[in-house]
Amino acid sequence: MSSRLRTSVLIVGAGPAGSSAAGVLAEAGVDVITLEAKSLPGLKTACSGILGPLAWEALPIRRQDWVVGRIEWARFISPLGSRLEVEGRGLARVVDREALNRDLARRAEDAGAVLLTGSKLIGLSPGLAVAKRGGARLEVRFDYLIAADGANSTVRSILGLSNPGIELGVNVRCSDGDMDGYEVRLRGGSKFSWIHPGPGGLMAGALGRLGDPVVDWANSHARCPRGEVRGGLIPRRPLRRLAVRFGDSWVVLVGDAAGQVKPLSRGGIYWGVSAARMAAEAILDELDGRGSVVAYQRRWWGKFEREVALSLSARSYLERLSPRGIEKLFQLLKSREEILRDSFHVDLQGGAAAKLLSPAVAASLAAISPTAAASAVARLITELVGW
Ligand SMILES: Cc1cc2nc3c(=O)[nH]c(=O)nc-3n(C[C@H](O)[C@H](O)[C@H](O)COP(=O)(O)OP(=O)(O)OC[C@H]3O[C@@H](n4cnc5c(N)ncnc54)[C@H](O)[C@@H]3O)c2cc1C
Repeated sequence: MSSRLRTSVLIVGAGPAGSSAAGVLAEAGVDVITLEAKSLPGLKTACSGILGPLAWEALPIRRQDWVVGRIEWARFISPLGSRLEVEGRGLARVVDREALNRDLARRAEDAGAVLLTGSKLIGLSPGLAVAKRGGARLEVRFDYLIAADGANSTVRSILGLSNPGIELGVNVRCSDGDMDGYEVRLRGGSKFSWIHPGPGGLMAGALGRLGDPVVDWANSHARCPRGEVRGGLIPRRPLRRLAVRFGDSWVVLVGDAAGQVKPLSRGGIYWGVSAARMAAEAILDELDGRGSVVAYQRRWWGKFEREVALSLSARSYLERLSPRGIEKLFQLLKSREEILRDSFHVDLQGGAAAKLLSPAVAASLAAISPTAAASAVARLITELVGW
């Protein structure tokens, strides 16, 4: 059995990025079909659901009943046990990610988008996507395809596009406990575990390279042995190329499929949802004869390039530090704790790190590890001018 459909825009993936794009396009009267492999958008997502103020504002709709906790302080613990604290301000909201995914998908459907759940993209040729839906084959013809199919994007691999690199993140859901902050324990380099409020109690997680004992790190932070463990892949860096000509059609990549996660915390909702809106608006401009879909790539990089470069540079520094090096970094930051408190921003982490810099701090960072400092400078230059 096979069936055939035709649409102007086909979106693969009903995560926050895909459903945000579907909503913008459907509201403008464009034909949209979204293919979602899961039986429900957001089912069993591993995400922590931490949204800084800019991420919250970037969402196409905002519902207070998603909010399961607030983050008023952050505590960072070094591998050797030193502590740094940032407190006193509303740093972030914690939302129930399943509810957020469900409501963003519903909002797109209410605007006229068609959502096909249980439909997995398995093949692609110019202007034609093939999906498996139940036991049957589904063919969808399209003019534009938005790849919003997450870190392990099928679209990206079928097209042979570059890979953003992959890490692993897990969260353990604990049914009791209460806190109004976020505790992070550095596990070496830029790997870390955490604990914060979550749906129905606390959520503790960890991220690292494939093969790192992330579940052990999360469990040791959580101390709730029977908590449900959920895992997911996390991309390492945003892709440069976000729009690709494919025969007479276009493919654009948004969200985790495009590697659009903050390089320090790896949160991806802010960048992905911002990308989805820009991609949808660029498609609308092209359909109206007012511009080209390629403008999306320019606009996304125009908005986020500095933040990407600064964050990748800071991560590059961290990843070359030994535990003793991280200890020295903590001592240095402690001496600037007031500036750290004033500049700390959940959504703008690279910019916040840059605010801590002065010639004296730069010299101290170089003294802690000349190799790490050289690597950070090289990364910054490559990101800003070298591509
Ligand atoms: C442990 C963990 C904690 C995190 N914590 C945070 C956080 O606190 N804050 C934050 O901002 N970000 C966080 N993130 C990252 C965040 O979850 C992602 O950046 C975000 O979900 C990306 O949204 P997306 O729409 O691009 O992709 P996704 O949410 O991954 O959605 C992709 C969708 O595509 C579907 N799909 C995949 N392949 C196919 C296919 N072949 N056919 C059809 N459908 C397909 C999937 O089922 C999925 O529904 C976390 C991630 C992890 C793993």
